[in-house]
Amino acid sequence: MMQTDVIVIGASASGLMCAIEAGKRGRRVIALDHANKSCKKILISGGGRCNFTNLDISAENYISHNPHFCKSAFSRFSQWDFIGMVEKYQIAYHERDHGQLFCDESAKLIRDMLESECEKAGVHIQLETEIIQVSQIPLGFEVTTNRGKLHGESLVIASGGISIPKMGATPLGYKIAEQFGLNVCQPFAGLVPFTLHDHDKARFAPLSGIALDCEVSFRQQSFRENLLFTHRGLSGPSMLQISSYWRAGETLHVNLLPDIDLNQVLDQYKQQSSRLQIKTILAQHLPKRLIVALIDVKLLEQTAANLSSQQRLQIAGSIHDWQIKPNGTEGYRTAEVTVGGVDTNELSSKTMQSHKINGLYFVGEVVDVTGWLGGYNFQWAWSSGWCAGQYV
Ligand SMILES: Cc1cc2nc3c(=O)[nH]c(=O)nc-3n(C[C@H](O)[C@H](O)[C@H](O)COP(=O)(O)OP(=O)(O)OC[C@H]3O[C@@H](n4cnc5c(N)ncnc54)[C@H](O)[C@@H]3O)c2cc1C
Repeated sequence: MMQTDVIVIGASASGLMCAIEAGKRGRRVIALDHANKSCKKILISGGGRCNFTNLDISAENYISHNPHFCKSAFSRFSQWDFIGMVEKYQIAYHERDHGQLFCDESAKLIRDMLESECEKAGVHIQLETEIIQVSQIPLGFEVTTNRGKLHGESLVIASGGISIPKMGATPLGYKIAEQFGLNVCQPFAGLVPFTLHDHDKARFAPLSGIALDCEVSFRQQSFRENLLFTHRGLSGPSMLQISSYWRAGETLHVNLLPDIDLNQVLDQYKQQSSRLQIKTILAQHLPKRLIVALIDVKLLEQTAANLSSQQRLQIAGSIHDWQIKPNGTEGYRTAEVTVGGVDTNELSSKTMQSHKINGLYFVGEVVDVTGWLGGYNFQWAWSSGWCAGQYV
């Protein structure tokens, strides 16, 4: 049986950040993981370049039953603090659209930085360790693993969400929360492509490969980014973003031409008594295959001069408010995150400690705080891990 101060379950973004901070305070820390290497998700993130944070971080970029919960952590360990670490390690990075920061070379450099900080802080990372049981004991917690038992005063759950089980994601964190009587907000797959009902799939599969800048909305939320038609459904950043808000059975609204007013454009052609066919006019703005899939061929063959105002509104509506009801999403197999998780009402926003169970902490994606696409999820992992690391 091994005695230590802090046991962290999950040796990836949030777990290692917490472990580093606790180690720096002189705490004896062990980070356990069932994987054969640490930080697997970091390594595959951002197409291998890790979009490690964003220049513009605010609570509005996160989904949570309590939208204020994340604010405290971001104010104490911000994107600038993480950028400072990256610069200290001379990791070259660059900015892409929407303030997203990526490594110039490889995500591996972020993993190496965390491991190096762990080494300096005396953190022991123990891989290939299966967690068999977790229980509370008089002075902390007992964790039973395939490699023996450990006792620790503090227990940090940093086991992430359940997206991409192939990468080692498991519901362990939710199970531990439930075991200790903590509420878990229903998890679901986020940042994930949509699948379509058979009739829509047949209609839109031929558009596979078309990408266009659009505005997609669900209820009050909208995103202006690329949409990508795939042979399975709808993807691209705008669709991934909205998937975290979407609810099964509901309709998405897509403005396929957000920069122009089609009604006005068609009206101008009509005023000029233009003999141009509608399909010719639309083809100046959108791919022909898309136009044919969305608008009745009889309307497309009309001339602008002959178009009634009702038909004009109908065409503009099909383009500016294309309504599509997905069949579902690709699910956890390809989702970049899990929305939902340990209810923030159960945790202190300052320490990430459970209100009910002294010494039990939850950090990172396992908590009901989910970021948008764009480096927001890692920043939550760094900030929440850092905060817990000050108290464990
Ligand atoms: C393909 C992909 C690309 C992404 N790209 C980005 C990006 O560029 N930018 C961004 O901000 N976010 C990105 N994300 C999201 C980001 O990776 C996660 O939000 C982040 O890794 C969460 O950190 P975490 O430490 O909380 O959990 P994780 O990184 O998921 O770590 C959890 C750890 O716990 C371990 N574990 C799980 N279950 C058990 C168990 N039963 N026993 C022992 N150990 C266990 C896992 O092996 C893992 O090491 C991406 C996600 C995916 C899937």
